[in-house]
Amino acid sequence: MTGRVESARLIISALEDVLPGKQEGAGEIKVTAQKGERWLLTIGRESYVVLGPSALEGLSTLPDAADSTRSIFSFFRETGGAVLLAGAMRSGKSAVFNQTVIRTVNFNLETGNSAPLPVVVGRAKKGRQVDVMAELQKNIGSFASFNFQIEGPLDFLYFVEQQLEGRRGKLRLAALEEVGILLFSREEYLAKVLENIDFYLGRAGLPDQLKESFEKALQKSDPAQCFGEEFVLMTQALGAKGINFIGATVDRFTSGQPWPPTAQFCAMARESEKYQVHRRFSECLGCGEPAVISAVTEPLDKVVKVGKKDYRIYRVITDLSGSVEAVEPYFAPLCAGCNDQIRSGLASADWPEIWVQK
Ligand SMILES: [Zn+2]
Repeated sequence: MTGRVESARLIISALEDVLPGKQEGAGEIKVTAQKGERWLLTIGRESYVVLGPSALEGLSTLPDAADSTRSIFSFFRETGGAVLLAGAMRSGKSAVFNQTVIRTVNFNLETGNSAPLPVVVGRAKKGRQVDVMAELQKNIGSFASFNFQIEGPLDFLYFVEQQLEGRRGKLRLAALEEVGILLFSREEYLAKVLENIDFYLGRAGLPDQLKESFEKALQKSDPAQCFGEEFVLMTQALGAKGINFIGATVDRFTSGQPWPPTAQFCAMARESEKYQVHRRFSECLGCGEPAVISAVTEPLDKVVKVGKKDYRIYRVITDLSGSVEAVEPYFAPLCAGCNDQIRSGLASADWPEIWVQK
């Protein structure tokens, strides 16, 4: 115990020299939360995430990913339909997604039911594409096929249709990671707003400022493709063909507001057994409680060395109307309580809770 308190004191004193808020005379460093090698700190109005060497790997997911996988798999066997895996970043959605796909395809092969429908993964970033393909191909070989250039729900349906040609069977599965990306498919519009378009299309969390103008543009040019509607229609079209669908998505914007298709999907799930939303949670970076929010951070080019360990520092962005270029692709999973402590301008009480089917 003494060692831990000692290390906390050493880290704080090392941070005092490097945190910009401290240098600007904003006051004492306040430790908002600390768990293992993860820290949430505030100085005046600034908040920081400090991560030790094992902190990123150490984030665990709640509840157990294996249980979710079994539950979705048996849902497909017994009911058929569509499942949306929703949750904050690092909530283990991808692990459940991949394992459900593998189990479903293997079940298909074992029972001789059919040739399974290939797995489709949308618009993942390069590194992520390699991860997804490697795991699925190791387990189910050529039964997974990929199209990383999916630009929208109609593209996805078209690709599924192509893959179906010449195949017969009862149990079929279409799968889509990065479902959120389908909404941000109007590249000609986004290209006018952002220079580095690939970077932002690779992430579902967009600052509110951008979201609002994007939404307006969509409504103006093509109401049918407005937030969420086409995605919901896509799952219905697959259902009409007897194809199960599984998708994974971040369920809230980085402001904390719900992502509209999740709400639509929840409404459908309330009314029909054919739809399910599995909301997944990672540990809150601050306290370990279930995290519902992916807060955006920006990198500080600073590393604090305490003993032999390096501690990396990120500033939490609380003003989402600021420059989008400042956003760093590190998302801090937070519970509502910790979010409200360090992002008081983005209080969770202002956001509707997303309903979840058990
Ligand atoms: Zn918390």
